[in-house]
Amino acid sequence: MKKKWLFTPGPTPIPPETLLAMAQPIDYHRSESTVALIKDVLQKLKHVFQTENDVLFLTSSGTGGMEGAVANLLSRGDKVIVIQSGKFGERWADICTVFDVEVIPIDVTWGNAVEPQAVETLLTEHPDIKAVFATLCETSTGVLHDIEALARLTRVRPTLLVVDAVSGLGADDLQMDNWAVDVVVSCTQKGLMTPPGLAVVALNQRAWDAVERSDLPKYYFDFRKAYESGLDGSVPYTPAVTLLTALQCALDRICEEGIRNTINRHNHLATATRSAVKALGLSLFATSPANTVTAIRLPEEVDGKAFINLMLDEYGITYAGGQSQLSGKIVRIAHLGWMNENDVIVAISAFERGLMEIGCAVPIGAGVTAAQEVFHTFKY
Ligand code: PMP
Repeated sequence: MKKKWLFTPGPTPIPPETLLAMAQPIDYHRSESTVALIKDVLQKLKHVFQTENDVLFLTSSGTGGMEGAVANLLSRGDKVIVIQSGKFGERWADICTVFDVEVIPIDVTWGNAVEPQAVETLLTEHPDIKAVFATLCETSTGVLHDIEALARLTRVRPTLLVVDAVSGLGADDLQMDNWAVDVVVSCTQKGLMTPPGLAVVALNQRAWDAVERSDLPKYYFDFRKAYESGLDGSVPYTPAVTLLTALQCALDRICEEGIRNTINRHNHLATATRSAVKALGLSLFATSPANTVTAIRLPEEVDGKAFINLMLDEYGITYAGGQSQLSGKIVRIAHLGWMNENDVIVAISAFERGLMEIGCAVPIGAGVTAAQEVFHTFKY
């Protein structure tokens, strides 16, 4: 088998102890051991969410958690603000529309983060807004949003702040309790270093009050059922038991490192990657780049799709390309989850090599040197 490297913002590489844990015989989901497993996982997730609120899980990818948030928090005819600065902000709007929720979009040029002022203006114009839907790291553009600033606006109003932290959780800082973020949605295949298949969601008391009032239809993604069963480790439906085992391993790893250190490590790796990109004479796509993933604007003459294919076919390297309007125009290099300095060196050196092969003149070695300088100079 050819050696492969995965530098995509999900799925991300899985540590060996997690792979081994998944190879163990599967347990019955109502056995004592699974009940203990569920309780342990939900307890440890609090550390990653930086919250004392209970966390619930659903057997679905991250989008299931997003759909659940809309269906459980809102009622027919509710009005919400959706920040659309990329593909995943747009997804919030799509889900709200399906549920007959009125969306007031804030369209942000891709590559930029929303100006909190724009949100404040709309909140003042429409005091009946039920919720603001935002994205921590807009994975399609590599942009980090200022969730703390948005929370300052919502926590003094009867408006919920619902954050898609699907890619950003564990990489970009999100202090749910300290900042008073009402709902945080994430999933397993990103910073949590586990295969895809579980969504994880945390709600504060304001959000639970909204759940009580919600009249939108839901069955499988009913948060009350998921929450109540999670409390005693029981489950309403057969969960992805194997993934829970894997998630427990990943959470042990993060708890051992400590969430602050985990975030600092991601910041360290992102700083080096950005420095490398600039040293190569290329530019970052995001004006406020996230720790999760670095989006790089490709020179006009480079066919981004051909580049991504070349990297996989020739070198076994998977980077993510651009989505929708950015297809072929950017490359996204993730430094997410089980990553260290050496991974960044591989990602950057292969990037230089690939550009050279495809006929794009960059100063070979300059990116690696810049990254090494960051690693040498800054400790985290
Ligand atoms: N939101 C963001 C910010 C994401 O990065 C992704 C996945 N790339 C999603 C939502 C959707 O998650 P999933 O594919 O797990 O449903």
